[in-house]
Amino acid sequence: MSKSPVWHPFHQHGLGEDIPLVTRGDGAILHTADGRRVIDAISSWWVTTHGHNHPRIMAAVRDQTKKLDQVIFAGWTHEPAETLARDLVAIMPGGLDHVFYSDSGSTSVEVALKMALGYWHNRGEPRHRILVLEHSYHGDTIGAMSIGERGVFNRAYAPLLFDVGTVPFPAADPQPTLDALESACAAGDVAAFIVEPLLLGAGGMLTYPPRVLAEVRAICAAHDVLFIADEVMTGFGRTGTLLACDQAGVTPDILCLAKGLTGGSMPLAVTMATAPIFDAHYSTDRSKLFYHSSSYTANPVACAAGVANMAIWREEPVMERIGTLAQRLGAVLDRAAQKTQVIRPRQCGTMIAFDIDTGDDAGYLANIGPSLRAHFFANDVLLRPLGNTIYAMPPYCIGQDDIDRVSDVMMSAIDLNAR
Ligand SMILES: *Cc1c(COP(=O)(O)O)cnc(C)c1O
Repeated sequence: MSKSPVWHPFHQHGLGEDIPLVTRGDGAILHTADGRRVIDAISSWWVTTHGHNHPRIMAAVRDQTKKLDQVIFAGWTHEPAETLARDLVAIMPGGLDHVFYSDSGSTSVEVALKMALGYWHNRGEPRHRILVLEHSYHGDTIGAMSIGERGVFNRAYAPLLFDVGTVPFPAADPQPTLDALESACAAGDVAAFIVEPLLLGAGGMLTYPPRVLAEVRAICAAHDVLFIADEVMTGFGRTGTLLACDQAGVTPDILCLAKGLTGGSMPLAVTMATAPIFDAHYSTDRSKLFYHSSSYTANPVACAAGVANMAIWREEPVMERIGTLAQRLGAVLDRAAQKTQVIRPRQCGTMIAFDIDTGDDAGYLANIGPSLRAHFFANDVLLRPLGNTIYAMPPYCIGQDDIDRVSDVMMSAIDLNAR
């Protein structure tokens, strides 16, 4: 093939790694132009829930393309957007009655931040400070990077990122987290606290218990600090429940959803908000409207995929599949945990992770990363370690045979790295 003009995301072209050409997706499998059958053990970067090319979602997409491709959404509407919004309000925690559309997880987070600041601004009580949890990831736009962990990902842009308050990640003893949140909230200038509930993804697949989530939510409520749940990755069953927040019995003031919203088939996101957030922007005064949109907001074809996804959730035994998958992945994790070089085994629903003990060479740029990736690729398994953290997060439809294969390849990778 001639040299490609494509510049890939999070990819170092200078290393000259092979870039597979994917021609077809089917369930948990990706087929490549050179005839390989690759197991997608990370759900194509955490988006694919029910499997690639799900027949019901693809049929809904085909159907919608016969009717309406795209329409302005400022003051106009269409059936797929209306239906999806109603379906979301019906299935998500009570009180999240307003649905704002956008195109990606990052934008859903930007929208959440703007809603929070707009809420305080329009009430005439300006609060601007955002609190975040240590090690968080919320996306790659400037605002989303500002509220995420600082590091090699964003060092070049650091001077442009805004200042936030960082609450320590809850370790075995969560009290320092709760104390830090309490005293930060007490200052009175905090607009919102944003978290990835139960499972921090890009920060290294770090988990914390539902009890801590319930406690941080309560602290925010006590101080009138808006609580934003970024469920872009954790939403739609990933953690074993529809939302991670469900396990803590928590309802956020603002909820971000994206990856699994269309079953992982089309780019679409929503930011859901409670009545007080919407009402703060509701007025006969046009200056108080919510100033955000992108050209493709609520694209009808993407919304149709979302409607089909919701029907799958209502009509198919999705939770049962998730339960079975979680159990099977638990067995894989047990197998890995037997190995001496495996540390910090952890599971949250359909995600398992562990670290390989590499001594001082840990973190995202750990040297072990690229060699692990090459090993997985050579064995037709798509796994993309975060530094020395190996994790799997497959689509809910993956079969036992393919899980066994992923397990074997993980174990051989661990053995290659015996110290
Ligand atoms: C992936 C992710 C995002 C960003 O979503 P994009 O669609 O990639 O912009 C935001 N928050 C969390 C928790 C994520 O995992």
